[in-house]
Formats: sequence, structure tokens, C-alpha cells
Amino acid sequence: MVGSGENGFQTSHPLDCNVFLLDGGTEHALIDAGSGVEPKRIAANIEHAGVPTDRVKHLLLTHAHGDHAAGARFFRDLFGVEVTCSKEAAPWLEQGDTEKTSIRLAREAGVYPEGFRLDPCPVTSPVADNDTITVGDLELRVLETPGHSRGHVSYLWTEDGHSSLFGGDTVFAGGKILIQNIWDCSLQEYAETASKLDRLRLDRLYPGHGPFLLSEAHRHVRRANLEFERLRVPPNLQ
Ligand SMILES: [Zn+2]
Repeated sequence: MVGSGENGFQTSHPLDCNVFLLDGGTEHALIDAGSGVEPKRIAANIEHAGVPTDRVKHLLLTHAHGDHAAGARFFRDLFGVEVTCSKEAAPWLEQGDTEKTSIRLAREAGVYPEGFRLDPCPVTSPVADNDTITVGDLELRVLETPGHSRGHVSYLWTEDGHSSLFGGDTVFAGGKILIQNIWDCSLQEYAETASKLDRLRLDRLYPGHGPFLLSEAHRHVRRANLEFERLRVPPNLQ
């Protein structure tokens, strides 16, 4: 973990989501980019981890909300990373679209400060469900996981029979979810995503906020899915 804000471990700017650095041997991948407010703090954490910056070749974005994607342009310029996000969210990122990403609304609601921006960032690899991504020696599978927002994907990594999910804002520790009053948040899609993730019987979960889980993550996902199956809404994060 090289970045995390006030909903997490507070190792970088308070508005940052959890930012993970995946070690694929010859190459590393950043999972999400943080808010872009003080991205240098994340870059410093990468340096402290002793990772040569020329090994950071990929940036894999789960979705285009400001706390996850507004730092993308910084890391693209700093490391020359290839940027991966869903096909649906790619144009929003490339155009710096503050409507589709709900950044204008979030700014007006005081979630983000007044000067908060989404710098347009070219997307190298727009991906869809079941695509595979290679990071050095590792292979990740793309899962479309809408509900929290449109254009949300998660990245599944399976090794030695253990599955790890970089889940962005799908399911969090304790079976929590993150519903927001925005145009593209959908309870029905969220329920389908929870059911899809439940079927994976995940070992490890690295979510976009809060603690990560290093075993039996499926218990937490199950809790969220059971609530949806009973036609209820799982508890919201915070
Ligand atoms: Zn989000």
C-alpha cells in the first residue's frame, strides 16, 4: 500500500483512496492513483518502498471518481505508465469529464475543495469483462463490477490457488458498500456485482478504502451479498 487517505491508513493526502503497488517482478503496477491533490506523497512512498521508478509500468484504475483517478495524469507524466481503465470510463478520463465522474457535484457538495480538477489523461488500454492484463510475471483478470458507479472494474489475481481482488469501491471489510447520490450509482447493479464477487470465494480483498483482508475475504463479501439477497441494503461505508 503506497497511498491511503482519511478513510484508511492516512499515509498520503486525506482525499486519497487506497493505492496499491503490485510487484510483478520485472514490472510493477499501481492500482488506482489517488486524488491528485498531493500525489508526490504517494511517489515518495513508492521510493521508500525501494522500488525503482522505471519499473512502475502500469496504472490500473478501478473507476473514474476523483479520489481514485484524478492522480492518473501525474503518474502517467512521472513514470510514463500505461493507463488501464474500463472502456466505459476511458473517454471520461481522456476528456477530464467532471460531469460523468460526478466531480463537479462532489466539489459543490464540499466533498472536494474548490480547485479540485480531473486533468485529462490518455488511456492506453480500455478493458472489458474477462480481459487479461500482464504485469511482469503476473496475470490479472478484469471483472466488470458496476453498482458504485458505471465503468467500474475490479482486478482479480490468482496464484497458487489463492485469489486476491483489487476491488475498488465494490465491497469493503465488514461487508460494507458505498452508495452515493449520483447519476450512475445503481442498487440493482450493485447487487449483481456482490453476487458475482460472492461466487469467487475470495481469499484476499484489497478495497479502495479502509482495511484490506488477507484471508477469508469471502466471509465479508458474503455478508454484503446476503443483505442484497434479502432485498435489503448492506451498511454504507463510514
Ligand atoms: Zn468511487
